[in-house]
Amino acid sequence: MSPPGRPKGEYRSAQREGGPIRPPQAGAIVVAGAGQAGGHAAVALRQHGYAGRVLLVGAEPHAPYERPPLSKAVLGGQAAPESTELFSAQKLRELDIEFRPGVAVRRLRLDARRVELSGGGSAAYDSLLLCTGGRPVVPLLPGAEGPGVYVLRTRDDALKLRAALGPGRRLLVVGGGWIGLEVAATARQAGCEVTVLEQAGRLCARSVPAGIAASLAALHAAQGVAVRTGVRLARIEHGPAAVLEDGERLAADAILLGVGLRPNDELARAAGIACEAGILVDAYCRTSAPGVYAAGDVAVMRLPRAGGAVRLESWQNAQDQGTAAARAALGAGEPYRPSGAVWSEQFDSMIQIVGFPAAGVREVLRPGAGGRGLLSIALDAEGRMAGGVAVDAGRDFRQLRVWYQDEAPLDEVRLRNAELPLAAARNEKERA
Ligand SMILES: Cc1cc2nc3c(=O)[nH]c(=O)nc-3n(C[C@H](O)[C@H](O)[C@H](O)COP(=O)(O)OP(=O)(O)OC[C@H]3O[C@@H](n4cnc5c(N)ncnc54)[C@H](O)[C@@H]3O)c2cc1C
Repeated sequence: MSPPGRPKGEYRSAQREGGPIRPPQAGAIVVAGAGQAGGHAAVALRQHGYAGRVLLVGAEPHAPYERPPLSKAVLGGQAAPESTELFSAQKLRELDIEFRPGVAVRRLRLDARRVELSGGGSAAYDSLLLCTGGRPVVPLLPGAEGPGVYVLRTRDDALKLRAALGPGRRLLVVGGGWIGLEVAATARQAGCEVTVLEQAGRLCARSVPAGIAASLAALHAAQGVAVRTGVRLARIEHGPAAVLEDGERLAADAILLGVGLRPNDELARAAGIACEAGILVDAYCRTSAPGVYAAGDVAVMRLPRAGGAVRLESWQNAQDQGTAAARAALGAGEPYRPSGAVWSEQFDSMIQIVGFPAAGVREVLRPGAGGRGLLSIALDAEGRMAGGVAVDAGRDFRQLRVWYQDEAPLDEVRLRNAELPLAAARNEKERA
């Protein structure tokens, strides 16, 4: 399915199109976490013909919902929080999925293949899918948990932050990554005075190359957002106010902390399952424990093209890996190949990413087709695409996706020549 909002049609799940499987017709599968990955995993179990018990346990009080609108239309007040629902409780009932909202898995008993649940009780499983996502990092700074300081992960977070925005209100955004920039754009559109504080030398440094970071900074500056890079926060005071390491004090009406995600991997760690910065999975979504799989923001994969072990914190990955984990639990033999696709919307701009642009060694910047938008193609040492970014250039983005999937060798000279069509940059010799 396509994500809410743009870009429509481009984000289909490849995993649904895997080969036929013969699922077991009895037994029990427990899905821990009823977010996007867990919701898709539970539904996929039924779509692939599994007839045993499916228990979906979710710590939040809501049916599975999508988070991208929380920093966009929901935060801006153009969409109701309920509009983000992915699968209603009724739909889950129709699929004979036992859904327990407001219940958390508290402990894994791997030897007995049981999970213990909050509020008492336990459940047996043949397979367990850990889709517990993550929570915002709260930096260890004085005042970081004080009044007027917000994080954004859940619907409830979005409603609280929304109530703090409005014309003339001063919002400080700590962290110039995707969440921080999306909130900055939405708040600015709501009439707030917005300042973004980023400790790195540029925006989104972990995910995009310098050219795109500069274009994001320009986009925000043009809309009146004050973007300050290379600044470090020392503490937050009542008010609230941010005090920088050099002593400068910035008063605000609200402060959003958007400094990263901490994976909810404690259950797995406590049970002795191998974890790095999240639960380690192989290409079949298997953890180090037999019968236990993980997917979504909590899962870490080793991906050489990404330069090592990574968590793919994206809508597309949550959907596809959740589905892949369900298929793997049912005995499907195909590996999960993440598409690496992510999008972000800021002001009227659509930013689409494929692969791992920050893992490239060189960045090629060129305008999109017809001179519209901007493309950034990050090349690896062999001249293949490590990743690409399209800003307001959706048509070209399709080409970048194909090149990334094909690991196509590119002719850098042709790629840099904006007079030539993008397609001409595929290495002719290799094509022949
Ligand atoms: C504000 C915001 C905007 C975003 N925008 C974009 C975007 O524009 N594009 C994009 O590609 N991605 C975006 N993302 C990222 C995307 O939404 C996430 O990658 C995706 O939600 C991950 O899904 P998940 O199921 O792994 O985790 P989650 O959606 O976090 O779901 C995990 C669930 O598990 C529950 N849980 C945790 N522990 C337990 C337990 N022990 N027992 C039971 N339940 C438990 C949690 O409460 C949660 O409900 C955005 C994320 C946020 C927060």
